[in-house]
Amino acid sequence: MTLVISKDVPWNATWSAEERHEIRPCRHIGMNLAIWSPHKPGEGRPLFAKPHMVRQRKSIVDMRCTVCGERTDWRDRWWFPRGSWNEGWWMSTEAPVHLRCADLARHACPKLRTAGGDPIPFPGGSKVLSAIVGGHATDKDFGVSIAGRRVVGHLKLAWRRPLFLASITETSQCPLDYRSTAV
Ligand SMILES: [Zn+2]
Repeated sequence: MTLVISKDVPWNATWSAEERHEIRPCRHIGMNLAIWSPHKPGEGRPLFAKPHMVRQRKSIVDMRCTVCGERTDWRDRWWFPRGSWNEGWWMSTEAPVHLRCADLARHACPKLRTAGGDPIPFPGGSKVLSAIVGGHATDKDFGVSIAGRRVVGHLKLAWRRPLFLASITETSQCPLDYRSTAV
């Protein structure tokens, strides 16, 4: 079975041929150092639970749809609220989705389907924060040596006052998880 990106596999998923990491300047964050992986979507097998580092940053900076990779316009910018509190911010690594792509995501993800979670219109007031990686665990996970440098991993969308949380139910905070559809 041939897997189609944006239908069977989200655009931001890592593929096994991309599982190699280096530290390089990233153009999506002003050429600051960041974890880099090669761009080889469709090669090998998809790793559904792992967003590709470069595509993840690109999706947050450009407000690209996590499923199809195209930019979202504010009139069609939806979002599955998934995140947690951290140092006074409610943070999320999830990029937005188009409504048609949200439907695909929900269809492909039994957890989302079961929970009945609907995407919400993308909430305003977000800031983009950089997750700084480091330490022994990072070196081990990515096979790189940070060596005291300031290196960015994912980007996060963050809200100081996430008023949208009040209007969603607990069960709708379901991970956008494609693993159960992996082949
Ligand atoms: Zn899309």
